[in-house]
Amino acid sequence: MASPSGSTTLETLPSRGRVHVVGAGPVGLLLTALLQSMERFSVRLYEKRHEYTRTRMVQLAPYLVADSVDSYRADYIDGDNVDAVFDPAELHEGLAFRRSIPSDLMALLRDWTLGFCPLNSIERAVSDLIDARVSNGVQRTAAVVTAEDAIAMLEPGDILIDCTGSRSLLRDHLTTGSGEVDGGANTLKIRLEYALVITFLYGQTYDCNEYCKYYKNAENAQYKFIPMVHRTHYDGSVSHVSGIVNISADDYGAMPSRFDGKWLRTNFPGVAQSMDRFIDKIKEETHGEILGDLEIVRIPLDLYRARNATSRHWLTAGPTDHPFATSPVFLAGDSAIGSPYFQSISLGFECAMYLAGLIAQRDLPLRDMLDRYELYSYKQWLRVYMRSKMIKHNKDLFESLDDPLALLDKLHIY
Ligand SMILES: Cc1cc2nc3c(=O)[nH]c(=O)nc-3n(C[C@H](O)[C@H](O)[C@H](O)COP(=O)(O)OP(=O)(O)OC[C@H]3O[C@@H](n4cnc5c(N)ncnc54)[C@H](O)[C@@H]3O)c2cc1C
Repeated sequence: MASPSGSTTLETLPSRGRVHVVGAGPVGLLLTALLQSMERFSVRLYEKRHEYTRTRMVQLAPYLVADSVDSYRADYIDGDNVDAVFDPAELHEGLAFRRSIPSDLMALLRDWTLGFCPLNSIERAVSDLIDARVSNGVQRTAAVVTAEDAIAMLEPGDILIDCTGSRSLLRDHLTTGSGEVDGGANTLKIRLEYALVITFLYGQTYDCNEYCKYYKNAENAQYKFIPMVHRTHYDGSVSHVSGIVNISADDYGAMPSRFDGKWLRTNFPGVAQSMDRFIDKIKEETHGEILGDLEIVRIPLDLYRARNATSRHWLTAGPTDHPFATSPVFLAGDSAIGSPYFQSISLGFECAMYLAGLIAQRDLPLRDMLDRYELYSYKQWLRVYMRSKMIKHNKDLFESLDDPLALLDKLHIY
């Protein structure tokens, strides 16, 4: 259909076409690997980094490889919320898409849901898988893509997926209006807390539960260390311990973005003592030693979402020559939704799988595709919002367990 401005408003995607994925972090890579296996698309992947160097250990959620609705919602924090937010048909559709994921990729996903692994090993594994596939090679471009570049490279019917992470390239370009790009207008952000993410390796098997978190912090009135503990899945005798210490906004302002145990001891002895007490108790129980030093990152723990995760406003904005009116744009991964507490990659992967499932449907009207992705992203946002608030609330209560009045202040039952 020709619009009055002369541009063409697409009803459905062309039978063959190009997909531009900007950003080859974990989510951009997964999407690329999923779309690569659909012969009708040629995928172009753009990445500014030359090497995968992020060694931080990350964990993926078991729901990513669920093969039934029951296993999908088997989550001790928010299993019920899944039923409350998603329709049964949506859950079944998601599972059906999972079953169609090529076995090489599914094997990797299964592996990563078993325990912590370095982020760059996930990135390298998917990147290598993409390069090793013999059919439908992906065209890679090593460059910093600007928003102007991204807009200029579009031909009608191309798909553009922004996987550039929390500082998304295109999030601010998805709202129509005066033509000015209004930074932040398309982002809803909620700051939950400031935190240190502290990581160390321990040379013995060590596992943790809620009692352990409590007793090992019993003498820490402040700066309780709240770990997430899993054995590294590649080495059974080494425990990878990663956890969070809540800090004030002033503490946050006085710290560099990343540092080690020595810096902590000199500059924030209160936090260091709390860590030492926690670690001494692990040693008393298991007679092991820390391997190396503490690795510490200070971060604001934010929940945020793009109010528009697609270019659907451009499609309905009326006559325009803007390429977003004829080429659908999607945000995926941290560019669409960000969440703390070790859940973001799983959320990004989940949305990426759903998006790939929509793109795979040949006759799906474009408007439906955009609307359905918006709705799905919104539901995933609701889920992660509720889950994160629950985790934060539980953390707040936990941190006040020694002080009944402070605890009661946080309860607000009705
Ligand atoms: C300390 C810490 C611990 C974490 N632990 C966990 C965890 O245990 N589990 C979990 O799920 N999540 C964890 N996360 C979050 C997780 O790392 C992110 O959610 C994840 O990396 C987001 O993936 P992404 O692909 O959306 O974006 P990113 O990983 O940010 O990737 C974006 C990619 O786009 C590229 N790029 C950006 N701009 C451009 C451009 N203009 N042109 C070309 N390329 C561009 C970047 O170079 C990058 O490769 C943690 C985060 C931190 C900080």
